[in-house]
Amino acid sequence: MKVGIPKEIVADERRVAGTPATTKKLVGMGFEVMIEAGAGAAAGYADAMYVAAGATLAPDARTIYGDCDVVVKVEAPTADEVPLMRRGMILISFIYPKRTAALMEQLATQGVTTLAMDMVPRITRAQKLDALSSMANIAGYRAIVEAANEFGSFFPSQFTAAGKVDPAKVLVIGAGVAGLASIAAARGLGAVVRAFDTRAAVKEEVNSLGAEFLEVELEESGEGKGGYAKVMSKEFIEAEMALFRRQAPQLDIVVTTALVPGTKAPILWDREMVELMKPGSVIVDLAAAQGGNCALTKAGEVVVHNGVKIIGYTDLASRMAKTASQLYGTNCVHLLDDMGKAAEFKVDLEDVVVRTSMVTHDGAVTYPPPAIPEPTPRALPPAPPSKGKVVAAPKGPSPLRWVMPTIGLGLVVLWLVLTLQASTMRSDVQAREFVQHLTVFILAVFVGWQLVWNVTAALHTPLMSVTNAISGIIIVGGILEGGHSGDVNAPVILGVVAALIATINIAGGFLVTQRMLKMFRRDPEVGR
Ligand code: NAD
Repeated sequence: MKVGIPKEIVADERRVAGTPATTKKLVGMGFEVMIEAGAGAAAGYADAMYVAAGATLAPDARTIYGDCDVVVKVEAPTADEVPLMRRGMILISFIYPKRTAALMEQLATQGVTTLAMDMVPRITRAQKLDALSSMANIAGYRAIVEAANEFGSFFPSQFTAAGKVDPAKVLVIGAGVAGLASIAAARGLGAVVRAFDTRAAVKEEVNSLGAEFLEVELEESGEGKGGYAKVMSKEFIEAEMALFRRQAPQLDIVVTTALVPGTKAPILWDREMVELMKPGSVIVDLAAAQGGNCALTKAGEVVVHNGVKIIGYTDLASRMAKTASQLYGTNCVHLLDDMGKAAEFKVDLEDVVVRTSMVTHDGAVTYPPPAIPEPTPRALPPAPPSKGKVVAAPKGPSPLRWVMPTIGLGLVVLWLVLTLQASTMRSDVQAREFVQHLTVFILAVFVGWQLVWNVTAALHTPLMSVTNAISGIIIVGGILEGGHSGDVNAPVILGVVAALIATINIAGGFLVTQRMLKMFRRDPEVGR
């Protein structure tokens, strides 16, 4: 089986569908790999690197399309490339079938089986083939790099001898794969980041990246079929835009990534909001290719309006061609691996990933694919006990159930014995004082023990800090009681023991605190 990798011919496309590393993997899977000379040059991969990985070089695309059984590429082929493809060939590429009906007709007529990487279903099994997520992740990161490049200031707050510089304030609209990558990149650079999404489910992810999740008063679920976004009501979009209008004057950078599968991008940032922003602010519209989330976006261009730059690049992933090619190439390798490697390679129409991605086969356009049946909900396994929370004890007799009554009984017996002993004391006053102290002591032991026993383990360290203060009082009491008289009697012994135990408690507390502080201290050697 021969896999071919042609050079991308669409203007400004620097990516390539295979790298030396993915070539090596394909060769290991039993495929022969043929790459067009110079195909990887724009992504930083020289021909010699492919040859070293086991590929052969083809002088032109005609040889690739004429000789190979499978051709992997990034961009959908142009009308000029299709006639070069031989009948029965398998093409793996981005296709975007919603806007390429004529191209699909041409591919079907040419007898090509086409698997669209953008149609790979987003099911758990196919995550490793999810080229859309691979590219969205890169685009989200690159959006912040582009914004930083156009923005005339620091991202983090800076205190210099010449004065303080405030941190950049960033708003990310749409916290899907690209949005989350933008949030992580902006936070990494030290900006103050806010984010908004119609799907409340992403709030936790946004917060975990250190950004603030903005919300509107109006309650409406943004979750559509399969957990994807749905088209929101007019009222919700209005409430959302009112929120953005209030935010606009404070913001330095806005990254918009809001998309709803199968529809045009919603306009969420209008001309008025652009005009409310400070001159020098930057908007990066990742939805530019789908019409844009900003009313003033022009796809592929940077528009300047009232001093605000609106970046509408549609080739953000291609601007990081080296890594984008590596990730895309790996997604393709996984698809070829799933299709049976070289030895058992087949186009299995029963395979849901293959069938859903397929847009042409056997001379016909096979798009749209049949709907994937919704998975039957499975009974959830019992949730594991979460850390730091008090969880109910399992039912049934506890092995420690006898501990409490025994200790309680022991304390009562001790109190009785020592009270009886007090009756042998020389004066009544002495005996009364002794019984009083003993009662307080026994009760303190009981109450203290009950308290510590019922405090959850996660709170033992703060509890220890509090008990240090109590231990101080015990030491003072113990010393007073122990040094009360020259005799060695029960109160003296108890006083000395109390002072000793409280001292151990305080010293131990300091040692443990020191150890904990050491764990959080930065190591100057490694800077963390
Ligand atoms: P996307 O690019 O289609 O949309 C980007 C984001 O815009 C989404 O989070 C969406 O909720 C949001 N959005 C839509 N309308 C909006 C509006 N009016 N205001 C604000 N935000 C709006 O989405 P995506 O990043 O490709 O994927 C979205 C989600 O799909 C992911 O976060 C994930 O949960 C899921 N996903 C699953 C898989 C998988 O299982 N293999 C793979 C990728 C993504």
